[in-house]
Amino acid sequence: MTQGILVINSGSSSVKFALFSDDGLSEPKPLFKGQIEGLGTDPCFQVKDSNGRKIDARDEWPRGSTLNHTGALRYILSWLEDCASNVKIQAAGHRIVHGGLDYEHAVRIDKHVLEDLEGLIPLAPLHQPHNLAAIRALAEVAPKMPQVACFDTAFHRTQPRVAQLFPLPRALAEAGVRRYGFHGLSYEYIAHCLPDVLPDADKVVVAHLGSGASMCALLDGKSIESSMGFTAVDGLPMGTRCGGIDPGVILHLVQNLGYDAKAIEKLMYKESGLLGVSGVSNDMRDLETSDNPHAAEAVDLFVYHIGKYLGMLTSALQGIDALVFTAGIGENSPIIRERVCQRAAWLGIRLDREANRKGGPCISTPDSPVSAWVIPTNEELMIALHVRNVLQLG
Ligand code: AMP
Repeated sequence: MTQGILVINSGSSSVKFALFSDDGLSEPKPLFKGQIEGLGTDPCFQVKDSNGRKIDARDEWPRGSTLNHTGALRYILSWLEDCASNVKIQAAGHRIVHGGLDYEHAVRIDKHVLEDLEGLIPLAPLHQPHNLAAIRALAEVAPKMPQVACFDTAFHRTQPRVAQLFPLPRALAEAGVRRYGFHGLSYEYIAHCLPDVLPDADKVVVAHLGSGASMCALLDGKSIESSMGFTAVDGLPMGTRCGGIDPGVILHLVQNLGYDAKAIEKLMYKESGLLGVSGVSNDMRDLETSDNPHAAEAVDLFVYHIGKYLGMLTSALQGIDALVFTAGIGENSPIIRERVCQRAAWLGIRLDREANRKGGPCISTPDSPVSAWVIPTNEELMIALHVRNVLQLG
């Protein structure tokens, strides 16, 4: 019987999962990756094997059905029992968006941890409740299975205090109004790869460019600054999120344009970014192929802001040895990588266009003073490694 680790990433309308085999010695190996989408409207189960091949799955739910997190996890576990019957799942790890100030590392979940994490819901109301719903659901479906919480904020707890503070009255910082940073599991995975890929690079900027996008400055593999702050809406423009805007805009919307908190939340999280500026799509593939000038402007804005943050993060690092691209756009869009690198020529990045077209891993010329790289992220593997370490499996 092979030992396995289940990784869960639960959102409002989907539960994503990955199953790894784990011998406790070598890196956990992916076996299956899948998801149930459309929990609230017509659930749909999809799964791929370790080679990325789609596995035919039965269409389980009649049209018009809904599923809660418990139903979704019950289905996933029973599918794995049937289709990975030689794997004994020993534990599960969850991606949890917010660990606040106290959780600097992944942790085994018990009643007290769960209560603490519930207390952080106001800091991440769009994600944390769904992350926690999956913990409760799994405890119901598999009560004996140990569960580990892995936080998107934890990796950034190494940032210096000045990077974490807002220039607001002290009492607010003490009440938790601080810059936390997100996408930490992705940055931690890249930091985990750097000693092999770039052993001599101390100062590295990582651009995690996906439907959520952020950038992080790594000094000797530790986060010292990031583009996201108090929430995952800060920093770069994203698929539908606005990124950093002057807080005065919010006051103007409330005082003069009749917006309330709910309307502002919708505007900032769902209607802005690439979608809001282009009016075409939140998907970079659509924008790159569109001849609509507003689509081109949305791409220009995205590239411009990446360049702006690259300068800021280089200043935080007091220099730069390498730039790493990762996540959906970073890994798959030579156009965006080329445009970002061209704007960063002043920093010493010389792009190798052919290597970039082929997807790297190194996309800069051999004589480039600052190197540029494509490293596919693997947050699921990072979670599996945390589960193994926290529970001392193996
Ligand atoms: P992620 O959130 O990391 O899964 O990234 C999702 C985003 O990656 C999608 O919204 C697309 O905009 C983008 N993406 C995926 N493949 C490509 C591609 N070949 N070219 C440009 N963008 C891509």
